[in-house]
Amino acid sequence: MAKVELKGVGKVYEGGVRAVDNANIVVEDKEFVVFVGPSGCGKSTTLRMIAGLEEITEGELLIDGELMNDVPPKDRNIAMVFQNYALYPHMTVYENMAFGLRIKKINKDEIDKRVHEAARILDIEKFLERKPKALSGGQRQRVAVGRAIVRKPKVFLFDEPLSNLDAKLRVQMRAEISGLHRRLNATMIYVTHDQVEAMTMADKIVVYKDGKIQQTGSPLHLYNHPGNKFVAGFIGSPPMNFLTVKVIQEDGAFFLNEGSFKLKTDPEHAEYLKKYTDKDIYFGIRPEDLTFSEDSGAPNGISLKITVVEPLGADTTLWLSTKTQGMVARTDPSLTFKIGDEVCFIPRMEKARYFDRETELTILPPPPHKQYA
Ligand code: ADP
Repeated sequence: MAKVELKGVGKVYEGGVRAVDNANIVVEDKEFVVFVGPSGCGKSTTLRMIAGLEEITEGELLIDGELMNDVPPKDRNIAMVFQNYALYPHMTVYENMAFGLRIKKINKDEIDKRVHEAARILDIEKFLERKPKALSGGQRQRVAVGRAIVRKPKVFLFDEPLSNLDAKLRVQMRAEISGLHRRLNATMIYVTHDQVEAMTMADKIVVYKDGKIQQTGSPLHLYNHPGNKFVAGFIGSPPMNFLTVKVIQEDGAFFLNEGSFKLKTDPEHAEYLKKYTDKDIYFGIRPEDLTFSEDSGAPNGISLKITVVEPLGADTTLWLSTKTQGMVARTDPSLTFKIGDEVCFIPRMEKARYFDRETELTILPPPPHKQYA
């Protein structure tokens, strides 16, 4: 069992910098939870407080129901993997992995067994006698993970472990860490600024901004039901489009008026849009929820001019503009477009999301009982 709970946890660094404000997080036993957000938003600080490397200014940290605030790091039964690997350069891979166990006075045979077992899981057995400088970045990262595994911790913490690797290796290591999670059946908390890592690896994502948790939920819950404009824009790539539009009511239906287009909204959204009648809101629509139409005057279409064409192979990204606002669409690569073309895209209005201009909170409530769906 290894359940981690943060209750109203905050961190103020010496000199008064508030890095984390009122963090409430539950990491269930065996769950893979990812803290994600832009650089400087407080994710590493939260992780370091869990590890015991930073003092907790306020609130409570519980592991399996036990208060950990003042328990020294070595007694928390947690292992952390760092971005820079933090390997000892003068020790071999074997010694690097065994070192922590030796200090704990675990017997030699047991150490040998654990090191070989971890090396086998990570496919680094043939490097055990090498020094870290004779390894590639990916191999070093595996050793750093191996050093965590041999300790058989209750909880694994990862602090941006893949950011020093090239793009291809990152994709591979991502899959390896996910596989490792399934194999070890362990509780893992992973920090990254990369929303793709969060989406692909997490059971549950915690989105941070400026030291505050913005939303917690499964990857698809956050993608489908972002609680605010920040989360909507952060999760998904290319990001969701946000257009300033005015809500108008005509013949019992609600429309969005942008000036250069007018869209009829989904009837299911009417009850939430009603109170914004004649007001400006943000209309959010993902690039993948825009469908190209050959008919330039298609009903509920948006007329746009192409400013950039990015053919990616599997799909093509088009950067577009209305008379006054920019947009991005994801299209079928078999369609050919060129800069300057006038095109029409029809948004899937049932996928539209709406945000208050002032609070930037979602206007549509998430479906009930589906917080982690
Ligand atoms: P992230 O991991 O999301 O990039 P951090 O948790 O490292 O962010 O940092 C959060 C905030 O706390 C930042 O504003 C950062 O400058 C500040 N910070 C981090 N470490 C310290 C420190 N030791 N002393 C003072 N401020 C710090």
